Amino acid sequence: QVHDGVAGNSVVTANTFSEMIAQQKKMSCSSFLGIHGSDSTKRCMDVLRGPDGELPEKLRNLEPYLIEHISNEIMNHDPNVRWEDIAGLHHAKKCVTEMVIWPLLRPDIFKGCRSPGRGLLLFGPPGTGKTMIGKAIAGEAKATFFYVSASSLVSKWMGEGEKLVRALFGVASCRQPAVIFVDEIDSLLSQRKSDGATNRPQELDEAARRRLTKRLYIPLPSSEARAWIVRNLLEKDGLFKLSTEDIDSICKLTEGYLGSDMKNLVNDASMGPLREAFRQGTEITKLKKEDMRAVTLQDFENALQEVRPSVSLDELGTYEDWNNQFGSIS
Ligand code: ADP
Repeated sequence: QVHDGVAGNSVVTANTFSEMIAQQKKMSCSSFLGIHGSDSTKRCMDVLRGPDGELPEKLRNLEPYLIEHISNEIMNHDPNVRWEDIAGLHHAKKCVTEMVIWPLLRPDIFKGCRSPGRGLLLFGPPGTGKTMIGKAIAGEAKATFFYVSASSLVSKWMGEGEKLVRALFGVASCRQPAVIFVDEIDSLLSQRKSDGATNRPQELDEAARRRLTKRLYIPLPSSEARAWIVRNLLEKDGLFKLSTEDIDSICKLTEGYLGSDMKNLVNDASMGPLREAFRQGTEITKLKKEDMRAVTLQDFENALQEVRPSVSLDELGTYEDWNNQFGSIS
């Protein structure tokens, strides 16, 4: 969160080691250099110019390719996520509202005793909605959202990570109010290990824990939250026809599923009517939308064979232990 060019809160998340490795692999293949002076650089700079057509002073000494990268890859003008898009997590929503959104909306009253806390850590398995919370903060506070993955700073930017972070704060201070969301913070804040950085809250050292004073566990979705995700996603597409009993059965069968697993499950189940029509010999080009049957419990039962839960009980136990030891209770 940036006010008057001064970094206040940081909202950071920690996912799992495997996700970080996957991201590192993906990112190390892409290249960001060789884009100096292009038309697109000019466009990115133009967005940041003041009414006088000049670049703000803070940005004048920054390398144009850094500004372009931030504008294209890190800055999101309309994150398009609101609280009502996020299932469950009532406690996290309340804490984040008080600690980050209100101070963004009313910096004039969040002074002195009410100065906002300075470090909020959201931790938990990947796919539980931490990034969604970051986007909702920006959405609710009408702020520009900046997303940066700490593991990419290490893997992709290597020696230039610090330069990029400085440029990022420069750009964010010119786009206030701004939310900078640092994902996988543990890869930056953990003690170095010879086998590489790991992306687990347990790896945060004591100094990092001291800086991140509020630590909120973002757990797996409850049964109600899972039901909500199924209903919400199908309703958005006008496909919701399930009975209360069907939804109850889906909830029972999806114990241990992440929010992201639920989304994948709904996507797969919604293919059921299409697959059936295809099996019965209908060509996809001839398929009439109005003739397609609704998504059924059977479609979900089939999808459950394809979409398995992503987190093991062991892994969950580790998050819960860390939460018991270091997590904020309220
Ligand atoms: P994280 O940052 O914790 O790894 P994300 O916020 O990126 O997880 O979630 C990945 C996707 O999973 C989201 O885009 C959304 O579709 C779904 N999802 C996860 N948690 C929730 C939730 N609590 N409510 C609604 N959708 C969710």
